[in-house]
Amino acid sequence: TSPVGESDPQIAKILGGELRRQQDQIELIASENIVSKAVLETQGSVLTNKYAEGYPGKRYYGGCEVVDEAELLAIERAKALFGCEFANVQPHSGSQANQAVFMVTMKPGDTFMGMNLDHGGHLTHGKSVNQSGKWFSPVAYGVRAQDHLIDYDEAYEVAKANNPKVIIAGGSAYSRHIDFKKFREIADEVGAILMCDVAHYAGLIVAGEYPNPFPHAHIVTTTTHKTLRGPRGGMILTNDKKLAKKIDSAVFPGLQGGPLMHVIAAKAVAFGEALRPEFKAYAKQVVENARALADSLQSVGFKIVSNGTDSHLMLVDLTPKGVSGADAEISLERAGITTNKNSIPGDPLPAMQTSGLRVGTPAATTRGFGTEEFRQVGKWIGEVLDGVATGGDNSAVEAKVRAEVVALTKRFPIYA
Ligand code: PLP
Repeated sequence: TSPVGESDPQIAKILGGELRRQQDQIELIASENIVSKAVLETQGSVLTNKYAEGYPGKRYYGGCEVVDEAELLAIERAKALFGCEFANVQPHSGSQANQAVFMVTMKPGDTFMGMNLDHGGHLTHGKSVNQSGKWFSPVAYGVRAQDHLIDYDEAYEVAKANNPKVIIAGGSAYSRHIDFKKFREIADEVGAILMCDVAHYAGLIVAGEYPNPFPHAHIVTTTTHKTLRGPRGGMILTNDKKLAKKIDSAVFPGLQGGPLMHVIAAKAVAFGEALRPEFKAYAKQVVENARALADSLQSVGFKIVSNGTDSHLMLVDLTPKGVSGADAEISLERAGITTNKNSIPGDPLPAMQTSGLRVGTPAATTRGFGTEEFRQVGKWIGEVLDGVATGGDNSAVEAKVRAEVVALTKRFPIYA
């Protein structure tokens, strides 16, 4: 048995159970991915033992000369990926990256503008229960009712009327290209800092499959674990030297203590992978697969918010089937397809039910699915949700699809 099997059979069982769950289901949660064994190995390494408060060459602890090299590599590779001049790779998460930017750019009570959360914005962009909404004053732009595209005219009007200190472009459920240049024009018009939170799109951006927020953004924040396919974590980028200094101070000592050196080294490994040609091919396939999935879902009677996608994700409007996002998520999970319920713009149902489902292609693309497999996935979703719509016992359909899903996943093994 393994060391954890020896010392903690309960946790060993959980690790095995989660491995099997990941292996034999189809992961459609748009924010998840499947990291390489190299990333896993690095994150589970002796670097976890090391305290390294501070930055490379300027630490508050001895013995940092080796981990310094890891952080410098992560920084250099991050800059190369995004084509920018500064990177802070220490934020423990995307949320903390965003908090650090707030600390640099605002005082409690100040106004900022982000995307309406029901239209695709993130919790940290001003939700009332989040620090961003409790300590600051958020105002919001949204998407147009007729085509579900960002309403830049509304964004301009809201910015003009409220003079936000910061404008956030980016979100968690917006499937189309964002016009970062237009957001910068609005920011310049009102003297705001433009922060682009590209957590969802990062992997596509570095592969040239989604618009790069540079040179338009003053500051870019991202997670490292979504399309970028690294360890869980965050990162902050900029080309502005003054902001860069403030960002470093905001992350440490402003918000965090010791950086997670094992995670930072794993970020370096993932960034190294993302610099290779294979990663470009993966990102291209992610977008092609998303188009195929959207097409397949439309052909079995679903509506897709904004009528399609330019990225790795889409919002499925379930109203034509009369099924809630919550019921859809549960039944699909029993059938071996993992998704998450999600509000759609103008959703009549509350957030714990919703009329939508968010699905994305990064994880299954990583394991090798192409457009043919994703077309099949769309058909399975149709079968299962047609069963939910009839209101009766759906277990036979779920079991049938589940068996077919397992057979497909066996053809695309992970962590074998
Ligand atoms: N920003 C966006 C746009 C996100 O989608 C997310 C995660 O879902 C975050 C920030 C926060 O990242 P984390 O979960 O690492 O705190």
